[in-house]
Amino acid sequence: MIESRCGLLCSQCGYREQMDCPGCVHMSKPFWGENCPVKSCCEGKEHRHCGECASFPCDLLRQFAYDEKQGDDGKRIEQCKCWSAEVSAV
Ligand code: SF4
Ligand code: SF4
Repeated sequence: MIESRCGLLCSQCGYREQMDCPGCVHMSKPFWGENCPVKSCCEGKEHRHCGECASFPCDLLRQFAYDEKQGDDGKRIEQCKCWSAEVSAV
C-alpha cells in the first residue's frame, strides 16, 4: 500500500496527529504550503508514486530526499523502489 507520492511513510510521520493531516494521497493540498511540487508533478503524470515515473529519481525528488533539514538521506527514494517491487511481484 502506498502512503505518499514521494515515498515518505505518512504512517510514521509525527505531523500526522499534530497537524491533523490525512496523509499525502488523501489530501488535496499539504498543510505546510499551497502545494507540494512532488505531489503535483506525480499526480499530474497520473502516477501513484514517483517510482512509477520514467524520470525517477528526478532532480526534484532527489532535492527533497537529500535536503539538509527536511530530507531523509534518500530513504523515500528507496521506499518508492520497494513499492515498485511489490507491484511487480504480484
Ligand atoms: S513531500 Fe510532498 S509528495 Fe511527499 S508526502 Fe509530503 S506532500 Fe506528499
Ligand atoms: S520522479 Fe520526479 S518527475 Fe517523476 S513524478 Fe516524481 S517528481 Fe515528477
